[in-house]
Amino acid sequence: VIRLRDVCRVFPAEPPVHALAHVSLRVRRGDYLAVVGPSGSGKSTLLNILGLLDRPTSGRYELDGIETTTLGDGARTRLRGHRIGFVFQAFHLLPRRTVLENVMIAMIYGGGPRGERRARAEAALAKVGMSHRAGFPPERLSGGERQRVAIARAIVREPSLLLCDEPTGNLDSRNTGLILDLFDDLRDQGHTIVVITHEHEVAKRAHRRVRIVDGVLAEE
Ligand code: ATP
Ligand code: MG
Repeated sequence: VIRLRDVCRVFPAEPPVHALAHVSLRVRRGDYLAVVGPSGSGKSTLLNILGLLDRPTSGRYELDGIETTTLGDGARTRLRGHRIGFVFQAFHLLPRRTVLENVMIAMIYGGGPRGERRARAEAALAKVGMSHRAGFPPERLSGGERQRVAIARAIVREPSLLLCDEPTGNLDSRNTGLILDLFDDLRDQGHTIVVITHEHEVAKRAHRRVRIVDGVLAEE
């Protein structure tokens, strides 16, 4: 799914910040990878590049065999919409919409007719065990339930890659456990997952761990 070759990301500043230095990484279909490392080490920078939100300063990034660094902004946005799902620490659900509408929103561009979008959203909610809350507003859900809805929204377009930045950072240990069980299920269903985390409990559930220190990535 992912092939990074010798990726560097330098932020212009005085002196320049070398947020990623010569990172090479391969992630195969069905991998479940955890990225760990101290604060400021470059984890979010890496995730932003993998998610096509940012570009490397140098190096190559292939997603599903497509070389992305030479693509224009429009092509990158389309690729992101079709192939990448994001999950963040803050759930970013729309407060005035129902749970079902929050999931359907991920398909407003190119998701087909409304009935089809609705059916796909219902299927995604079933996958995360939230069908019984489809008509609720997010404010009536617990933190763990909100994150399950955010995960349903991330997977509803069946992305090749699920990118998660501290997905359990706002959850207690019980809800963290439920989300980790859900990641196990998604992985068993063939999803490819990359999760950034500070939590040992989260990292140890992944099948592979890499550590970033000062922008340098190493396999654990
Ligand atoms: P945390 O665990 O605290 O979220 P992180 O590992 O995600 O940290 P990054 O956000 O990737 O760290 O930041 C890596 C380095 O790059 C830091 O030194 C940060 O200050 C710097 N940096 C990130 N974004 C920018 C930017 N837009 N401009 C300048 N420097 C930046
Ligand atoms: Mg970060």
